[in-house]
Amino acid sequence: MNDPVLSAIEHSAEALEVRHDSRWIVGYSGGKDSTATLKILLSAWKLATKKPPFFDLIYCDTGVENQILDKYIKNQIQDINREAELDGLPIRTTILKAPVQESFFVKIIGRGYPPPTNSFRWCTKALRINPVASFLKAATAEQSVVALGLRRDESQQRTRSLEKNGSSHWQRQRESTFSYDVYLPILELDVPAVWDAIFGLTKPRSISASDLEDLYRGASGECPIIKSPQSPPCGSGRFGCWTCTVVRKDKSAEKLIRSGYTQLSPFLEFRNWLAEFRNDPNARWKKRRNGSEGLGPFTMDARYEILRRVDALEDATGTEIITSEERGMIAALWKFDDVPRLSFKL
Ligand code: SF4
Repeated sequence: MNDPVLSAIEHSAEALEVRHDSRWIVGYSGGKDSTATLKILLSAWKLATKKPPFFDLIYCDTGVENQILDKYIKNQIQDINREAELDGLPIRTTILKAPVQESFFVKIIGRGYPPPTNSFRWCTKALRINPVASFLKAATAEQSVVALGLRRDESQQRTRSLEKNGSSHWQRQRESTFSYDVYLPILELDVPAVWDAIFGLTKPRSISASDLEDLYRGASGECPIIKSPQSPPCGSGRFGCWTCTVVRKDKSAEKLIRSGYTQLSPFLEFRNWLAEFRNDPNARWKKRRNGSEGLGPFTMDARYEILRRVDALEDATGTEIITSEERGMIAALWKFDDVPRLSFKL
């Protein structure tokens, strides 16, 4: 039987040859699946006779990434850039970010959005999918190939969607005004094969497989960056936002804390509090913003309380959680909902 990593490399080399004149964009989260995808594409690039000049590696920074992982990924991107410059690694990196008015705490504290749930998961679109879609649109995606680390065995839901979409390495992704080809190099890989690729393939040299493995003792899964039927919901643990209330328990953070990253504890406590606070009817308008029945945005008192707790968390951890630009935007938004409190200084 063929080694799954070798066949993924061979398949990818063929894909690169067929689409050598396209721009190749690789979605990167720093997690195991996108790391394996990148390594396989680089090995395939070496093998291919005709190939694109480089890969565009895109990383979407939500501004609320788990602190440990955020530091790891940003260092990783710096190291990849250095390797590209010194060793001619065919990679160009871009960090994407949602506009300030879309950021997590501006939505929650400024507009009063309830923290996301499975049935109202506004964050993935605002924080990850839209910034990536804008990048792709500007990159004339119609002629591009977007490589993603989706795998068939990741979840039953994923498997069903992939089957429905022809279960091929190639998929067509439609956005509202454009569409593009998606290539899935590790579609057939299971978790052990993903780790084989990460440990066995050398480039980029700057990615330390054992550092990544250490982080994965706690975290797993990756929140999607394109809106596609193949994309999974955030699972029971993931490389994602420390504020994520979509999952009932943040098992990634819990495991990271148990394995020694105790500095995450105050963040996890805040997240747990926010997930509970969302369900308090006294903290919410009695109607939705559009006037329909049902719990609406957070009241102004509730938003003030959330801000107070974020400020306390910033002080306790010595980290900036809400930037000054975001604070300015929150103050501007409060003018619409809170005339009496206008004088409050953010
Ligand atoms: S990790 Fe959670 S909070 Fe972050 S974008 Fe994904 S679903 Fe939303």
